[in-house]
Amino acid sequence: MFTQADDKLIQDHFDDLLKCCEAICKTPEDWKLVTDSFNFANEAHRGVRRKSGVPYILHPIAVAKIVVVEIGLGVKSVAAALLHDVVEDTDYTVEDLETRFGKKVATMVDGLTKMKKAGELAGQSSSQAANFKKMLLTLSDDVRVIIIKLADRLHNMRTLGAMPVDKQMKISSETIYLFAPLAHRLGLYNIKTELENLSLKYSFPNDYKQIVDKLSQTEASRKMFIEKFNAPIIEKLKESGIEFTIKGRVKSIYSIWKKMQRKMVTIDEIYDLFAIRIVFKPIAFVPEKTQCWNIYSLITDIYKPKPDRIRDWVNIPKANGYEALHCTVMGPDGVWAEVQIRSERMDEIAEKGFAAHWKYKERDKNIENREGELDKWIKEVQNALNSPTEDAVEFLDEFKLNLYTSEVVVFTPKGESVTLPKGAVVLDFAYEIHSNLGNKAIGAKVNHKIESLYTPVNNGDQVEIITSATAHPVLESLDHVVTARAKQKIKSFLKKERENNLSNGMRIFDEEMKKRGVTPSARVFHKLLPAYNSSSKDEFYVKLGAGIISLDNVDKILRENAATKLIKYWSLQVSNTLKLFGNSTKGQQETASGDKIKIAPCCMPIPGDEVIGFRDNDGDVIVHKKSCDEAIKLAARHGDRIVPIKWSSEKILSYLSVIEVRGIDRMGILRDISSVITGEMDINIRKLYIESHDGIFEGSITVYVKDKKDLGNVMNKVLAIKGIESVKRLETEDHHGASGVTASASGSQNVTIA
Ligand code: MN
Repeated sequence: MFTQADDKLIQDHFDDLLKCCEAICKTPEDWKLVTDSFNFANEAHRGVRRKSGVPYILHPIAVAKIVVVEIGLGVKSVAAALLHDVVEDTDYTVEDLETRFGKKVATMVDGLTKMKKAGELAGQSSSQAANFKKMLLTLSDDVRVIIIKLADRLHNMRTLGAMPVDKQMKISSETIYLFAPLAHRLGLYNIKTELENLSLKYSFPNDYKQIVDKLSQTEASRKMFIEKFNAPIIEKLKESGIEFTIKGRVKSIYSIWKKMQRKMVTIDEIYDLFAIRIVFKPIAFVPEKTQCWNIYSLITDIYKPKPDRIRDWVNIPKANGYEALHCTVMGPDGVWAEVQIRSERMDEIAEKGFAAHWKYKERDKNIENREGELDKWIKEVQNALNSPTEDAVEFLDEFKLNLYTSEVVVFTPKGESVTLPKGAVVLDFAYEIHSNLGNKAIGAKVNHKIESLYTPVNNGDQVEIITSATAHPVLESLDHVVTARAKQKIKSFLKKERENNLSNGMRIFDEEMKKRGVTPSARVFHKLLPAYNSSSKDEFYVKLGAGIISLDNVDKILRENAATKLIKYWSLQVSNTLKLFGNSTKGQQETASGDKIKIAPCCMPIPGDEVIGFRDNDGDVIVHKKSCDEAIKLAARHGDRIVPIKWSSEKILSYLSVIEVRGIDRMGILRDISSVITGEMDINIRKLYIESHDGIFEGSITVYVKDKKDLGNVMNKVLAIKGIESVKRLETEDHHGASGVTASASGSQNVTIA
């Protein structure tokens, strides 16, 4: 039971909330709604305590306070926040709430209850991702429900210390996985940042503490620098009669941590720990945009700007509504610093997200568009979730990616703007407009120039899709598109197509076999699969059904005994008759057999390459590729030492070759490369060197191969690995000046023939 002290505590917290509501309660009815909601919730949660021991009702009060103070929503939202746990945790129903508080409040509480139920299933029967998906499905049409849910989560994160450690981990990971991205998408930057920081605090307490400590240690010197940096700006802006505030803001703990992870550096190596923010009071009758650029020009009179670091979200705001002008300038002592320029209105939008838009609705016509944008986004999420995507985890990963990536805005020929994640290609644009347009697209005119479907689109591009009635989605496109929508549409088409091909193929095959009176036994497939280059029955059927292979030769194949594969290996031989160029001053006698032959390390020719030999001072023959720069140089200077040379096919030998790979970094790519080469192809990797930066990785693989064909096979296999963009043969081994080499060496480096 509650004590007097408990009741006093509850009353104090509610009084504080009432004070915060002064700005939003305009009529006696408003006040009544807030008070009634509180009384109802207080009664319903009576006697219940939170894990920390405080009365439960303090939680809904705190959520309501976040909703009004930190986000700026109105009276109905405050009521819904106060009541948000009533239906779930007590015997009251949504209908009860409707009779007392009206339809709007009841619907919001209903939405919150559904989200909560779906969320709480997470970690129980089915996978967490599947339950997130369920929870997202309950995303209400009313964006306020999501916002209140975020306030609820924020308060739970703030009080997470009272929970047991395993719950802390679970709740933190949900927060970073889903709620922080949602807050980002809604433009609730402060809430997003706090959710991220708290999540880090509980997931990586040591890292968190290290950054907090470091920031407090360096605070004094940073303050001094910021003052020094700001002084001339303050003077200049005052001179120009601009009303403004200027602040140096330390970047968030989480964003610092992310950067440390991404760049693999310590906190001491991160130089841009802070940003300067200028918020100005706009003067009447001059567009805010002009005023932003005016301030920019005043600042860059003082400090030199970094030309490629201007971010103009004033002309084209982010899809989540964010507007500001960012630039990076060279400050005192040659230190780069980011400067953010915003009007008071832009600042409020940045702080409070979409909620702030409503406040400025009457003043700015653009806002209505943007609210439409948000509605559209919620619809899209709902549509995507409702369509039968096989893999919930995959979908969510892509969905999340779309929440976070920065955006580009491109235009249709009619001038309508379409917002896409950065890196999106023409085909993403097509799918964004209509799935049929995507399915039939064959190319596009980007700014009136013909481009391929995989050309990335840039801010401000005008894109006109070219279609063909006979076109259809292909597998390759999946490697190029980035939006969840395009991926899902292509996948579902391919899935359908594959199923059709599979059943078609089975039908064709059965008919043909029946005609021949052949029972398709395992032995039959044993012969057929390799002959048709298929690794499984399914693959064989699909290829057959798609018309990629035909059964024209099937009789011949079935008659053949399991083919004995004749494998030819190459070796190198100096030709029998040696032609001398010019005068051999040394008068050496060369013979064909018994020559010591070495592969030149500069170009590392392998069988199949056109080669040329040079006799060195020791009498050994060094073999170069004919195209090798070194060989061309040698031939020019020492024509007399040229030894004609050719490949013969006698001995089994391996040759060292280097291929260079480039691609998109992802988990497990290294493992995939090595398993393809060593596992599937049984080829020795001598050295594997991979460097990754900004999600791209580059590296070189040194392998032992038998000949050019073998190398070609390796390169094709590697290229087929998901994420690999390009594979190139390298001429020299130490092209990368490799550091951090992980080597699995086998055999010797020089191939010599005795
Ligand atoms: Mn709650």
